Amino acid sequence: MLTRSLADVQMMIPGSMIDERYASVMIHGVSTDTRTIERGNLYVPLKGATFNGHQFVKEAFDKGAVAALWSKHEPNAPTDVPLIFVEDSLVALQQLAHAYRKQLRTRIIGVTGSNGKTTTKDMIASLLGTVYRVQKTEGNLNNHIGVPLTLLRLKEETEYAVVEMGMSGFGEIELLSTLAEPDVAIITNIGESHLQELGSREGIATAKFEIVKGLQRDGLFIYHGDEPLLQARVQRSSLSHIQTFGMEPTNDYYPLDIRVQADGTAFTVNRWSDETFHMPLLGRHHVMNALAAIAVARFASVDVAHMKEGFLRLSVTKMRTEVIKRPDGVTIINDAYNASPTSMRAALELLGQLTGYRKKIAIVGDMLELGEQEITFHEQIGEMIDPQKIDYVLTYGERAKAIAEQASKRFSKGHVRSYHDKVELATDLQKIAEAGDIILLKASRGMRLEEIISLLNK
Ligand code: ATP
Ligand code: MG
Repeated sequence: MLTRSLADVQMMIPGSMIDERYASVMIHGVSTDTRTIERGNLYVPLKGATFNGHQFVKEAFDKGAVAALWSKHEPNAPTDVPLIFVEDSLVALQQLAHAYRKQLRTRIIGVTGSNGKTTTKDMIASLLGTVYRVQKTEGNLNNHIGVPLTLLRLKEETEYAVVEMGMSGFGEIELLSTLAEPDVAIITNIGESHLQELGSREGIATAKFEIVKGLQRDGLFIYHGDEPLLQARVQRSSLSHIQTFGMEPTNDYYPLDIRVQADGTAFTVNRWSDETFHMPLLGRHHVMNALAAIAVARFASVDVAHMKEGFLRLSVTKMRTEVIKRPDGVTIINDAYNASPTSMRAALELLGQLTGYRKKIAIVGDMLELGEQEITFHEQIGEMIDPQKIDYVLTYGERAKAIAEQASKRFSKGHVRSYHDKVELATDLQKIAEAGDIILLKASRGMRLEEIISLLNK
């Protein structure tokens, strides 16, 4: 984590000023939040729509901060504490992070894409972690504040850092990538999330492709080679060091065989046909994330035995295809962390592929932020659910009703139901589900579909 004197910090933020009396004050780490600030931190007050961090500077010092940034245009700067005066505290945070990154020898892996960023990031860190000192983005800190904070947390001795980069509009990934200057940049896939802001899948691909703008000159670009929108952009670029993964045998990495089992997924890869990889994650889509991770591991000269160990060690972030085995014999796949059409389809396909269960019940809620065509997207999901493979479909929410309307055309009567109330849904579910059944929960974050789990327990 950033450990520097105030004089050093001042040199790292162009145009900043300090009172010379404080030049030798040492800071250890950076925080933007007085609730989690730690002793020795530099406090960075940020301004949002409803709050102004400058109001909490005194509190930050009370809780252990030893210095703070201060945006010049804010009135009433305290006079008796070490401050670094800057033009804009958010920009200064980013500049500081960038300057620190330039001082580190750590190699940085940047991960973006519509789906699977966090999963891929965790996989890469797990694979590299079998051999190297590795750090990664904590949780989902993947935006214009989270990425600088992630960079500022890096230790000097860290060999590889895996940094997740998220976005909701144009220009954001470019900013994050130029801050982090990754040695390896990855695009997991192009989906439909943020269609509202970006207009089209073309727009989404362009926005994700911004990640190459910060890529080191001879850095490696890894992408989902089955995606024509990415192929087209790569062809128009001057990138020289490229690796692809995908289902198609035209890719550098593709799966030969995939077996989805109750406790995870086993797969083989073209490069080593007699090696079977196992991971505690369910679904074919995770094999794509795994291939991206393998490409990075290979770049870092990790051997196959360590890669296999890395997959086994993987700890799954909660609510991303988390498997819950209930005492009543019902299994729940909690994938309620988020949903887009791509990940919704992947989750339903996964449920369809699973064998060894009595009944398979899909509980699907609204997919949010899809723009004008949102109903069409929900209808398409309803059309793809296969009554041969899934027994019940329960939908929750106004938009998800369109899923039920389409699905009910092909399912037996009573096997597709739609709800606007979770208690009602849970009550009916309790009547349908019995020992040996499996239930999938999937919806956008805003739907809080995981609440169904606690309602079931009542
Ligand atoms: P966020 O934008 O919320 O940070 P993310 O890109 O980090 O999301 P994850 O958190 O890894 O993605 O996964 C989110 C959801 O997408 C999960 O439901 C997961 O099962 C699904 N998912 C993960 N990888 C893929 C993939 N390669 N293709 C389709 N769906 C995927
Ligand atoms: Mg994420």
